[in-house]
Amino acid sequence: MTYLDYAATTPVDERVLEAMMPYFSQHFGNANSLYKTGRDAYHALEAARESIATGIGAARPSEIVFTSGGTESDNTAFISVLNRIAPLSAGGGHIVASAYEHPGVLNVLKWLGKQGYETTLVSPCSDGFVHADDLEAVMRPDTKLVSIMHANNELGTVNDVKALAECAHSHGALFHTDAVQSLGKTAFDVQDLGVDMASFSAHKIYGPKGMGGLYLRRGVNFDALIKGGGQESRRRSGTQNVVGAVGFAKALELCLEERDEEQARLSALRDHILQRVTESLENTQATVSAGKRVGGIAPLLINGVEGESMLLQLDNLGYAVSTGSACSSGSLDPSHVLLSIGVKKEIAHGSLRVSMGRYTTQDDVDGFIDALIPIVERLRAMSPVYQKYFGKES
Ligand code: PLP
Repeated sequence: MTYLDYAATTPVDERVLEAMMPYFSQHFGNANSLYKTGRDAYHALEAARESIATGIGAARPSEIVFTSGGTESDNTAFISVLNRIAPLSAGGGHIVASAYEHPGVLNVLKWLGKQGYETTLVSPCSDGFVHADDLEAVMRPDTKLVSIMHANNELGTVNDVKALAECAHSHGALFHTDAVQSLGKTAFDVQDLGVDMASFSAHKIYGPKGMGGLYLRRGVNFDALIKGGGQESRRRSGTQNVVGAVGFAKALELCLEERDEEQARLSALRDHILQRVTESLENTQATVSAGKRVGGIAPLLINGVEGESMLLQLDNLGYAVSTGSACSSGSLDPSHVLLSIGVKKEIAHGSLRVSMGRYTTQDDVDGFIDALIPIVERLRAMSPVYQKYFGKES
């Protein structure tokens, strides 16, 4: 199989696995136990926290709360903070997110709307970015929290989070960013960007699934979402996933060490795909093609064919790609991300997201392009829609 869906998940790097192994059965203790095995686990957990804090430029390790992943971090950022700073019992307030967030943000926003908060979605522009002017236009005196993702998972576009956070702060609102797709791929420093909260996930950076983190700036008022034994300094109860934390920290360390070279390599592969596919197939375009983007994501719109049909035929030939985000690719609805940037429904159906990573080679990419072209030509030849709207007059 040629795996080209690294934005959905990544394999665990061997070096990460090696770092994790001793914590499965040798240092297996509960990080809250007072005897030696427990203390060993505690030290590993705290070393991981410190390493991640340093990796994201946090002022102190205690600003990292370990969670089960990006979705839990996103949910926590909203629910835990709003419970404290704007409880519904005191009238709630207004919250803002971008329209192309991951469902981990969008669905919690929808739920909070049903509970009584006022919510606004700010649309990104057709270039794939959320601009501070557009955020400014929806801010209100009662806006309590703004959440705008750093890198988008379908387009790869990297938002100017510093400007967006400044805008939120100028109105007295807190700012959260979902940095799941940007961590380890582009510069991310919480103090430089000025964010109050940020969500991370280990499985997008060659770490284990079910492991993530929330950066919570000291001073942000917070009420634990998961209540219980009071672990994570009473911010997230449950016996800590020490082996996951060790893997997450090692994964981030490796990504940061290799980032610049790796991102340059992946950007070149992305540009190669976008160029060769759009040159070889008419009525095909890069969904976005300019501005700051993470390296490995090549988003394509191939008119007149269903993304799912391409995906299944590519799968038959051993290529794993996606039509959009992993979460929406199981449904036949066009991607909310594409609709949010103004792509028409009919066109959005022909979306293909190719995402590359650490083990992707130039041969993989060329093999994929060589496989894709005849698939699209065959599907178009059979498609009455394509013939009607895009076919040549006979
Ligand atoms: N946020 C973004 C931008 C993502 O791409 C994803 C995963 O696809 C998530 C959040 C969810 O992360 P997790 O799978 O760790 O819950």
